[in-house]
Amino acid sequence: MTSQPAAAHAATTEDFVNNLAAVNQRIAAAASTAGREARSVRLLPVTKTIDIERLSLAIAAGVDTLGENKVQEAQGKHEAFRERFEHLRYAVIGPLQTNKAKFVAQFAHEFHALDSLKLAQTLQRRLELEDRSLEVFIQVNTSGEESKSGIAASAAPALLDGLSSLDRLTPVGLMTMAANTTDEHQIRASFSSLRETLESLQPNAPQGFKHLSMGMSGDYELAIAEGATVVRVGQGIFGARNYA
Ligand SMILES: *Cc1c(COP(=O)(O)O)cnc(C)c1O
Repeated sequence: MTSQPAAAHAATTEDFVNNLAAVNQRIAAAASTAGREARSVRLLPVTKTIDIERLSLAIAAGVDTLGENKVQEAQGKHEAFRERFEHLRYAVIGPLQTNKAKFVAQFAHEFHALDSLKLAQTLQRRLELEDRSLEVFIQVNTSGEESKSGIAASAAPALLDGLSSLDRLTPVGLMTMAANTTDEHQIRASFSSLRETLESLQPNAPQGFKHLSMGMSGDYELAIAEGATVVRVGQGIFGARNYA
């Protein structure tokens, strides 16, 4: 039951309304199958590579958070939209170099790829300067693939503990990318291991540390079956990505 990865190319507000409704319907169905409430799963639209013009249509169709994997692209969109759409939230979902932490501190509301205490400390200092705060997800490498970022599950307790003295960061949960495979069993194993890591952390975690950011266009239904509370979906809303 993996998802159809990409929707048809969306080019009008109506296309976006339809694509968003279709994804939300599949989220609701997957939640229901898992005995969960549809509203326990948040759809985070992934807007990387989508230009301002098409994004404006998607925003008109109801997209209110932009999920971006590159901080500078996210910043450009923030600059373009800050006056027109003050309500927009920005979620940086890709790995971040310490020297770019200042940008995230300036405009992002959520960061899904926290993978070191050093980065957390840099974010804290930058957030103090901006007088802002940031929701963070610790990224865990659940696939063992070297190309994937994230820390080992065994390193999560120490990192979470280190965050307790950084008051500008609000740890809200864990994030992972599943193994890059069509083997559903392996994909589910990534997701279930993230859930187990969250469960093992929870007795010592701050209140609100309860989210699992996992599942993309190709595998969000499996992620929901394993407890995802945030699914990061790009191509399922916008159509196949064009990297040209
Ligand atoms: C691109 C991306 C996604 C979304 O991928 P789609 O296939 O477009 O749904 C999710 N998470 C991260 C970290 C990404 O970089």
